[in-house]
Amino acid sequence: MGGGRGSQRIGKLEQARKQTVAELARLRDALKVEVNPDADEGDPDLIEREKVMALVQTMERRLDSIDYALRIMDEGTYGICERGRLPIDPARLEAVPEAMLCVKCKSVVERQP
Ligand SMILES: [Zn+2]
Repeated sequence: MGGGRGSQRIGKLEQARKQTVAELARLRDALKVEVNPDADEGDPDLIEREKVMALVQTMERRLDSIDYALRIMDEGTYGICERGRLPIDPARLEAVPEAMLCVKCKSVVERQP
Protein backbone atom coordinates (compact mmCIF):
# COMPACT_ATOMS: atom_id res chain seq x y z
CA MET A 1 0.00 0.00 0.00
CA GLY A 2 1.14 3.59 0.31
CA GLY A 3 -1.47 5.29 -1.84
CA GLY A 4 0.23 5.70 -5.17
CA ARG A 5 -1.17 7.17 -8.34
CA GLY A 6 -4.83 6.40 -8.86
CA SER A 7 -5.63 5.52 -5.27
CA GLN A 8 -7.49 8.79 -4.90
CA ARG A 9 -9.69 7.91 -7.86
CA ILE A 10 -10.35 4.47 -6.44
CA GLY A 11 -11.40 6.15 -3.21
CA LYS A 12 -13.80 8.36 -5.16
CA LEU A 13 -15.27 5.39 -6.97
CA GLU A 14 -15.63 3.36 -3.80
CA GLN A 15 -17.32 6.29 -2.13
CA ALA A 16 -19.68 6.67 -5.08
CA ARG A 17 -20.34 2.92 -4.96
CA LYS A 18 -21.21 3.02 -1.27
CA GLN A 19 -23.54 5.96 -1.82
CA THR A 20 -25.24 4.22 -4.72
CA VAL A 21 -25.68 0.98 -2.78
CA ALA A 22 -27.16 2.88 0.17
CA GLU A 23 -29.47 4.83 -2.13
CA LEU A 24 -30.62 1.61 -3.81
CA ALA A 25 -31.39 0.04 -0.42
CA ARG A 26 -33.39 3.12 0.56
CA LEU A 27 -35.32 3.12 -2.72
CA ARG A 28 -36.06 -0.60 -2.55
CA ASP A 29 -37.35 -0.11 0.98
CA ALA A 30 -39.68 2.57 -0.32
CA LEU A 31 -40.97 0.09 -2.90
CA LYS A 32 -41.91 -2.40 -0.18
CA VAL A 33 -44.72 -0.14 0.95
CA GLU A 34 -48.02 -1.54 -0.27
CA VAL A 35 -49.92 0.53 -2.72
CA ASN A 36 -53.69 0.24 -2.76
CA PRO A 37 -54.40 -2.26 -5.57
CA ASP A 38 -57.56 -0.34 -6.45
CA ALA A 39 -55.64 2.90 -6.91
CA ASP A 40 -56.52 4.65 -10.13
CA GLU A 41 -54.01 5.60 -12.74
CA GLY A 42 -52.74 9.02 -11.77
CA ASP A 43 -52.99 8.23 -8.07
CA PRO A 44 -50.19 10.11 -6.26
CA ASP A 45 -48.97 6.88 -4.62
CA LEU A 46 -48.67 5.17 -7.99
CA ILE A 47 -46.94 8.16 -9.56
CA GLU A 48 -44.48 8.23 -6.66
CA ARG A 49 -43.89 4.50 -7.05
CA GLU A 50 -43.15 4.84 -10.74
CA LYS A 51 -40.67 7.59 -9.95
CA VAL A 52 -38.94 5.39 -7.39
CA MET A 53 -38.81 2.46 -9.83
CA ALA A 54 -37.22 4.67 -12.47
CA LEU A 55 -34.67 5.83 -9.89
CA VAL A 56 -33.87 2.22 -8.97
CA GLN A 57 -33.08 1.51 -12.62
CA THR A 58 -30.89 4.61 -12.85
CA MET A 59 -29.01 3.62 -9.69
CA GLU A 60 -28.57 0.03 -10.90
CA ARG A 61 -27.06 1.30 -14.11
CA ARG A 62 -24.81 3.63 -12.13
CA LEU A 63 -23.67 0.74 -9.95
CA ASP A 64 -22.82 -1.28 -13.08
CA SER A 65 -20.80 1.65 -14.41
CA ILE A 66 -18.94 2.04 -11.14
CA ASP A 67 -18.11 -1.67 -10.98
CA TYR A 68 -16.93 -1.50 -14.57
CA ALA A 69 -14.77 1.54 -13.81
CA LEU A 70 -13.22 -0.28 -10.86
CA ARG A 71 -12.44 -3.24 -13.15
CA ILE A 72 -10.78 -1.18 -15.86
CA MET A 73 -8.82 0.71 -13.25
CA ASP A 74 -6.99 -2.55 -12.64
CA GLU A 75 -6.25 -2.73 -16.35
CA GLY A 76 -5.01 0.84 -16.38
CA THR A 77 -7.50 2.12 -18.96
CA TYR A 78 -9.57 4.11 -16.51
CA GLY A 79 -9.95 7.77 -17.41
CA ILE A 80 -9.50 7.13 -21.14
CA CYS A 81 -12.52 7.86 -23.33
CA GLU A 82 -13.82 4.55 -24.68
CA ARG A 83 -14.85 6.10 -27.94
CA GLY A 84 -12.23 8.71 -28.72
CA ARG A 85 -9.38 6.99 -26.82
CA LEU A 86 -8.27 10.33 -25.38
CA PRO A 87 -7.95 11.16 -21.68
CA ILE A 88 -11.17 12.36 -20.10
CA ASP A 89 -11.12 15.82 -18.52
CA PRO A 90 -10.11 15.34 -14.84
CA ALA A 91 -12.83 17.80 -13.79
CA ARG A 92 -15.39 15.52 -15.41
CA LEU A 93 -13.99 12.48 -13.60
CA GLU A 94 -14.13 14.47 -10.42
CA ALA A 95 -17.85 15.09 -10.90
CA VAL A 96 -18.70 11.71 -12.48
CA PRO A 97 -16.04 9.21 -11.39
CA GLU A 98 -17.68 6.38 -13.37
CA ALA A 99 -17.61 8.33 -16.67
CA MET A 100 -16.41 6.18 -19.58
CA LEU A 101 -16.76 8.81 -22.29
CA CYS A 102 -15.54 12.37 -22.60
CA VAL A 103 -18.19 15.09 -22.78
CA LYS A 104 -17.86 15.36 -26.56
CA CYS A 105 -18.31 11.64 -27.24
CA LYS A 106 -21.12 11.40 -24.72
CA SER A 107 -23.11 14.06 -26.52
CA VAL A 108 -22.49 12.29 -29.84
CA VAL A 109 -23.59 8.92 -28.42
CA GLU A 110 -26.67 10.45 -26.81
CA ARG A 111 -27.77 12.00 -30.06
CA GLN A 112 -27.87 8.58 -31.70
CA PRO A 113 -31.22 6.79 -31.57
ZN1 LIG B 1 -14.23 10.95 -26.32
